[in-house]
Amino acid sequence: MDRIQYAQYDVIIIGAGPGGIFSAYELVKKRPELKIAVFESGNPLEKRKCPIDGKKVKSCIKCKPCAIMNGFGGAGAFSDGKYNITNDFGGTLYEYIGKEKALELMKYVDDINVSYGGAQTKMYSTAGSEFKKICMQNKLKLLDASVRHLGTDINYVVLGKLYDDLKDKVEFKFRTPVDRIEITDNGYRVLAGEETAECRQCIISVGRSGSKWMERICGELQIPTKSNRVDIGVRVELPAVIFSHLTDQLYESKIVYRTEKFEDNVRTFCMNPNGIVVNENTNGIVTVNGHSFEDPAMKTENTNFALLVAKHFSEPFKDSNGYGESIARLSNMLGGGVIVQRFGDLERGRRSTRSRIEEGLVQPTLAATPGDLSLVLPKRILDGIIEMIYALDKIAPGTANDDTLLYGVEVKFYNMEVELNNRLETIYKGLYVIGDGSGVTHSLSHASASGVYVADVIADEMTS
Ligand SMILES: Cc1cc2nc3c(=O)[nH]c(=O)nc-3n(C[C@H](O)[C@H](O)[C@H](O)COP(=O)(O)OP(=O)(O)OC[C@H]3O[C@@H](n4cnc5c(N)ncnc54)[C@H](O)[C@@H]3O)c2cc1C
Repeated sequence: MDRIQYAQYDVIIIGAGPGGIFSAYELVKKRPELKIAVFESGNPLEKRKCPIDGKKVKSCIKCKPCAIMNGFGGAGAFSDGKYNITNDFGGTLYEYIGKEKALELMKYVDDINVSYGGAQTKMYSTAGSEFKKICMQNKLKLLDASVRHLGTDINYVVLGKLYDDLKDKVEFKFRTPVDRIEITDNGYRVLAGEETAECRQCIISVGRSGSKWMERICGELQIPTKSNRVDIGVRVELPAVIFSHLTDQLYESKIVYRTEKFEDNVRTFCMNPNGIVVNENTNGIVTVNGHSFEDPAMKTENTNFALLVAKHFSEPFKDSNGYGESIARLSNMLGGGVIVQRFGDLERGRRSTRSRIEEGLVQPTLAATPGDLSLVLPKRILDGIIEMIYALDKIAPGTANDDTLLYGVEVKFYNMEVELNNRLETIYKGLYVIGDGSGVTHSLSHASASGVYVADVIADEMTS
């Protein structure tokens, strides 16, 4: 019997987020003769449209695929486009490829972003900042980083230009979620509904939205993994002036506080000066996130950032994401989605109401349900967040004002870590896992850098 002939590629990339895009970019640049396909669950960039308009559709209606998380540009497409160039946070890529190489690749990605439309955007840096000392004096630690803030609007422009450049050189298969991967004599078979294709090398870059799928694939192919951590907390929204001395100079400040009560680390995350708070849908669970625009016309009077507490679990518990999901589900159950509460109400042990929020000085930028976060967040996490708000109040007076808004819950899910070698390759030769889906990266810059790195590995190998 004749063997079925499937479409053949040199490289198949699964996922068109920053990891997948930068793999494709680098492979095309280094080895233009290679036949490359990108399988992506979501839509092309221009067809990605979240239906929430604040009027007819006020909250998440759980579209499949979710326009925010899936499609060309991945979870980063409508993000604030903050590319942090640092080994201090955003992932542990340096553990695999070395600190110097990781920074070199993050800078390389920055150069590409700049040349694809980001030239007018600003690079901020903590180097030489007087805030380091002020933070230290108040038991806070300011982490080192340079950050390119593209903004949601310019990020979109950069992605559009990258797509225009790649679309005739790479075969993009949108709305084509990969179901299974099989091992063949010469490489891999990728099965995606009606579409089946084979390749010599396969790069998996499925991000956070692909975390469950990744777990299944690792189980099916017996790729070793280790469970990781989950970060749980709230998104804080306050008048932009309260943080302007920090955000004007640093844009994003990553500050860590060690709580007195439990000696847990609480950290600021994803700061959006003059930005908006948004819903995020991960596998049907609605959590909160934020972004901001570079265009002055799109700026709001509020700044938002997350306060997160990292929760690491030890044996026998392995399902750290399941723990985070259960907490997020509680807020979805009580609030039908995200809950918002005034800090003053939380401190007084009462729920917020629509009228109390309307009377307050901070007007919410997300239509969330007024409620009580103490019914959702575990005491240890909530206590840590409250302690940190008072610590931040010392360097940014007004943070602990009654009207400061807290949205919950913000959960940062980490994919379980896939066992990889220093080529970011699994136990199977030619099967690579990169970006957030690998559990190694948690950011735009690290995910993109991992894409370039693997593309270079493949380009070198296929020449030799
Ligand atoms: C609202 C928001 C704001 C953010 N802001 C920032 C920020 O300012 N700075 C920062 O550093 N990070 C930010 N992040 C995180 C950042 O977006 C991610 O770290 C980054 O996108 C990870 O890139 P990735 O390529 O690994 O995965 P993703 O960007 O998640 O892309 C993975 C892609 O794979 C596709 N996929 C999944 N499963 C399959 C499958 N089975 N078959 C085919 N395709 C599949 C998905 O549809 C998706 O398009 C933000 C995230 C969100 C949601």
